[in-house]
Amino acid sequence: MERLTTDALVLRCRDHGEADRLVHLITPRHGRIRAVARSARRPQSRLTGSLMPATRSVFTLVSGRELYTVTGARGQERFDRLHASLLPMAVATYLMEIADQSLGERDPAPEVYGLLLGLLTLLDAQRDPEALLRAGEVRMLALMGFALDLHRCVRCRGEAQAGAGFAPARGVLCARCRGALAPLGADALAALRSAADLPLPELGREPIPAQARRELGTVLGPALDQRLGRTPRSRAYLQQLLGPGAQDAGEP
Ligand SMILES: [Zn+2]
Repeated sequence: MERLTTDALVLRCRDHGEADRLVHLITPRHGRIRAVARSARRPQSRLTGSLMPATRSVFTLVSGRELYTVTGARGQERFDRLHASLLPMAVATYLMEIADQSLGERDPAPEVYGLLLGLLTLLDAQRDPEALLRAGEVRMLALMGFALDLHRCVRCRGEAQAGAGFAPARGVLCARCRGALAPLGADALAALRSAADLPLPELGREPIPAQARRELGTVLGPALDQRLGRTPRSRAYLQQLLGPGAQDAGEP
């Protein structure tokens, strides 16, 4: 039995057994951990608030054969404004689902942890949720080992400018090489590059222009689906909130 005290962000929480809850946590040094919180559904449980998805606490855990057990949680950071806003919360839920699905159990993941925590902080600070969403998608792909090339054409290596297309597996194709792929305007290309390149604290200061939002609506989803081997369940609701523009543009 190993006892562990660690910072952790709750990715997911569901009922387990008679009165328990099962949480999926992401921690900086121990990666993704699944842990049971015994009796957490009883009204007198002191753990309730700390088990909410998209909250961070310092957890005390004891390892078991398959699952950890939560023995305590303190120093809760709740991101209240995030939890009170539909679209920011849907973005957070979607990015946390991607992390949950892409991380192996107990593989150290300090970069993913730092990225999620930074994005939740910015969503809570009411930065533009869609810009943060695109940054989360591009950066999660990179952390999964599939960094996109967004500056040079992935086929001819020429500079990609307005009119370039997006190949889900790799990055951008210049206007000459893109074939039947839908063209991206200058704003969409700039937004993609900002999503990938800006320092984390600078993200989401500027909303993405409407036309670029439509163009980017579906280009990153297929890239993630390919890498995850499935479509995150929370994307449908997110796309509903983003509006029709996000669903019908850029289909190959
Ligand atoms: Zn090219």
